[in-house]
Amino acid sequence: MADVHDRATRSYNMSRVKGKDTKPEMQVRKYLHAKGLRYRLHSKTLPGKPDLVLTKYHTVIFVNGCFWHGHEGCKYFVLPKTRTEWWLDKIEETTRRDNKIMDELKERGWSSLVIWECELKPKKRDISLKRLYNLITKTEELN
Ligand SMILES: [Zn+2]
Repeated sequence: MADVHDRATRSYNMSRVKGKDTKPEMQVRKYLHAKGLRYRLHSKTLPGKPDLVLTKYHTVIFVNGCFWHGHEGCKYFVLPKTRTEWWLDKIEETTRRDNKIMDELKERGWSSLVIWECELKPKKRDISLKRLYNLITKTEELN
C-alpha cells in the first residue's frame, strides 16, 4: 500500500519544481483565454499574488491544490496517517492565510474565485470551467 505521506510530499516537491505553470492552472488560463478573457498572472501588487487577475471584472482567481489548501470533503484531501498533527497544522495555516488574503482582496474591491484541482479532473473540467467563466462574467451561458 502506498504511503500517503510520501505521495503528498512528492507532489508538493513536484509542484515546487514545476513552479508557477502547474497543469491545472494552465488549463484555466487556456480556457479563459479562448473565451476572450484577458488577465495578468501572479500579480505581485495584490495580496496573495493571485494566479489570475481579471482587471476588467475586478476578479482574481486562485487555482488551489486540494491537499495543501485543505479542500473540505474532497477525496484528494486525505491527512497522512503519520505526523497527522504536523500536516494538519500546516494545512490550517495555509487555509487561514487563504481566508485572510481573500478578506484583504475584498476590502480592496476584488472578488476572489477559487477553482480546485479536483474540479479540473477530466470528468469535471468542462462544467467547472464553464461555471468559472459564468461567475467571472456574471452570465448564465451554461444553460
Ligand atoms: Zn478537491
